[in-house]
Amino acid sequence: MTSGGSGSATPLMQQYREIKARHQDAILFFRMGDFYEMFYDDAEVASRAIGLTLTSRNNGGAAEVPLAGIPVKAAAEYLRRLVQQGHRVAICEQVEDPKLAKGIVKREVIETITPGAVFADDLLDGARANYVCAVAMGRDTVGKQGGREGDRVREQIGVAAADLSTGELRLFLVTAADASAVLARLAPRELLLVRNAAHAELDGALQVVEGALVTEREGWEFDAQLATDELTRQFAISSLEGFGLGVEDAAVVGAAGALLRYLRELQPGGLPHLARPVVERPGGVMPLDEMTRRNLELVESLRGGEVAGTLLSVLDRTTTPMGQRQLRQWLLAPLLERDAIDARLDAVMVLVRDPVGRATLREALDGVRDVERLASKAAAGRATPRELRALGDSLARLPQVAAAVHAVLAHANQGGAQGGVLARMLHDWDDGADCAAQLTRMLVARPPLLIGEEDTIAPGVDAALDELRALRDGGKDAIATIQQQERARTGIGSLKVGYNKVFGYFLEISNANRHLVPDDYQRRQTLTGAERYVTPALKEYEEKVLSAAERIEARERELFEALRREAGAAIRRWQAVARRVATIDVLASFADVAEREQYVRPELHDGFDLEITAGRHPVVERMMAREKFIPNDLALTEEAQLIVLTGPNMAGKSTILRQIGLIQLLAQVGAYVPARKARLPIVDRLFTRVGASDNLVRGQSTFMVEMSETSAILHTATKRSLVLLDEIGRGTSTYDGVSIAWSVSEHLHDAIGCKTVFATHYHELTQLANELGGVRNFTVAVREVGDQVLFLHRLVPGGADRSYGIEVGRLAGLPAPVITRAKEVLALLEGEGEQMAARLTADGMQAPASTRRRGPRLKHQLHADQLGFFAEPVAPVDAAATRLKAAVTALDTDSMTPLEALTTLAALKKGAAAP
Ligand code: ATP
Repeated sequence: MTSGGSGSATPLMQQYREIKARHQDAILFFRMGDFYEMFYDDAEVASRAIGLTLTSRNNGGAAEVPLAGIPVKAAAEYLRRLVQQGHRVAICEQVEDPKLAKGIVKREVIETITPGAVFADDLLDGARANYVCAVAMGRDTVGKQGGREGDRVREQIGVAAADLSTGELRLFLVTAADASAVLARLAPRELLLVRNAAHAELDGALQVVEGALVTEREGWEFDAQLATDELTRQFAISSLEGFGLGVEDAAVVGAAGALLRYLRELQPGGLPHLARPVVERPGGVMPLDEMTRRNLELVESLRGGEVAGTLLSVLDRTTTPMGQRQLRQWLLAPLLERDAIDARLDAVMVLVRDPVGRATLREALDGVRDVERLASKAAAGRATPRELRALGDSLARLPQVAAAVHAVLAHANQGGAQGGVLARMLHDWDDGADCAAQLTRMLVARPPLLIGEEDTIAPGVDAALDELRALRDGGKDAIATIQQQERARTGIGSLKVGYNKVFGYFLEISNANRHLVPDDYQRRQTLTGAERYVTPALKEYEEKVLSAAERIEARERELFEALRREAGAAIRRWQAVARRVATIDVLASFADVAEREQYVRPELHDGFDLEITAGRHPVVERMMAREKFIPNDLALTEEAQLIVLTGPNMAGKSTILRQIGLIQLLAQVGAYVPARKARLPIVDRLFTRVGASDNLVRGQSTFMVEMSETSAILHTATKRSLVLLDEIGRGTSTYDGVSIAWSVSEHLHDAIGCKTVFATHYHELTQLANELGGVRNFTVAVREVGDQVLFLHRLVPGGADRSYGIEVGRLAGLPAPVITRAKEVLALLEGEGEQMAARLTADGMQAPASTRRRGPRLKHQLHADQLGFFAEPVAPVDAAATRLKAAVTALDTDSMTPLEALTTLAALKKGAAAP
């Protein structure tokens, strides 16, 4: 803060400075009457960020203080813009009535709003959670003897994630390698980190959450012992064992403690709605790395990052915001345990089989609003009358939801099915019907946003309130009678009673009738065409009406706050029921999509083989008429574990590759899949590297990114993984690229043994099938009609012979002369390629097969940069080789006897040795 000396400051500015000193890293909204004022740097930052006019104020001393103010009424919008830009804003209120204050009004910061810690709807997205994550490093000794020499010490990362808007608290224990997967899944808006901590592993993990606001705190705040105290106090428990946390979980406990401390700092009023932590350990959920998540376009499209065009957009037929958020989380966290997956699939199955029951269920869900966030607001004392009623209305629908689930399960039981997860949802179901009834009984059907504007509490709820209202309404009636009386008395037919906040009730008389105004009228206000008056009788009733209104407001507030406290106190019940509703909603959504899009239940097994019959890409197929999309079969088995997928540009290689990944992922999420039949293993990891994802922002070249992503796969994949590679090695020269692609394939096949599909334009890789037992070639068929290419999008065994790149160029609208010239150049290159091949052979560069290391033989597909087509001409072929070639070509092998053949061969050999 660039404030001047404090010696000359007014008491107000002294108060400001004291408060600001405690909120250095936030923009301070300092309440002064109807305005929030910002001073010094805060004013300058805010005026730049949101275009406020910067003024200045005399500080009481010589210095001018930069100042920017916003009306309290419009604050929400300014606040939204500041927070969206990544600022934190501390709201400092007057915490005593200025009329009663002795000296300067007392002020306090009542909350600090940051991107990761918000309640306001306009800063939240209903479809996704809003996490702030604390991340801490720890060490974990791998080995039974606990820390003895020879044991392996492994870096462990603890991630604690809280969503203030729902009260959700999740703790993750992860290895350094999987931390980025967890963070990518949570997509936090804000990160809480240890100040100046230098951990290389963490840096990598944090790259996936670019754009999150980083808040740093001292290392001691992450101390596990301190954290244990924080957590036990918050949740009123004696030890963390109840949460399944032990001494070995220091990293995550430390992170949770720091997070709690931070949130308390932001919310000095407390965190009554924070739910007990849910702990997630490695093993239950498949870590999805960022490239796989992005490349499969699970929840964000590659272009633009929107939801449109993603798997989420196809699967989202949820009706509640809780369901929407849950769906997103599920898609990012496929399961690894067969029972857990089957339990979801069982639930989807019974919902698919009962379309009528499902429709009833979805109808019941339809009126359920965001119970989770509404309940949190109630618990935090923030719910408006309208929101509290919405909570009541939503809760009131839950018995219908439960009844619909019951009906679906009863229908399933008749057919011998159990309903899996769906059945579990009803165990100890508590929809708080008592509280819902209370809320809908006490609040009017459509309460106002603020108390006082209109009635909030329903009539008949509170006798005192009803009496006050009668008084107020009686006064209003009396005032209406005055209008009649005064019209009669004065003979002014247009005389009317009006009301405004400044002057209260008045009698309005147009200028034309001014001469008829009686003497006892007292003038209050002059308008252009009329005058406003009051009479003693009018004032008397006004007094009655207004004082009744004031007391009504006070009483309503009292009743409303008590009701809100009561509803908020039941937060645990609402959180639990909200989570169940979310799950039911997602399962029903899966079933709905399965029926509409003709998905099938995948059959999961513990073996190796993956077999898909008539598989489709869930997103691509939606972009065309249903019959246009060509389904494809695919099998990856112990015998054929690596598929080299070649084919022309635009044939559909990437589509097939991704559809395999998406089908496998959907299955492990517990959803039906777009195929006629799918027999799938449970894979421990799914890796998808598709296309070149440039990462200039992170200062890495495309090729570097490609290689580091490939390297991550090779280091992490196991035999149980599914690896989908598209165009590895394309970012460099052909020789380098083919070599890398070849050796990567060999490694995946020989050393890892996982299921792999490798889509590539390097036809050389099709030779792998001759070298490695488990490799099969497939291509995506095209038909040439004249000089046009017809894309059949059908997967067939075999390798492609060419890329049809020029034809695709023509389709894309390259000018005709460019296409013609490209064809000439291609013909030249192919000719040179043949010469080159001849030269390689003549130079004896191909060693006998027995001594040759297996590897790609580059035939005529060499490209210009390697051929030297544009740089240097190919060297002349040597004379002996030319002679040899001519002699061999002239042989009539069909008519030779074996003896003649042997003699000729000996002669050729002799000739070849001659200079
Ligand atoms: P490139 O090698 O140029 O990257 P590609 O072989 O990977 O191309 P895709 O991007 O998968 O080709 O597909 C190109 C287009 O073909 C898709 O956008 C889609 O419109 C269409 N397509 C792909 N697969 C199918 C299919 N099975 N049925 C119908 N249309 C398809």
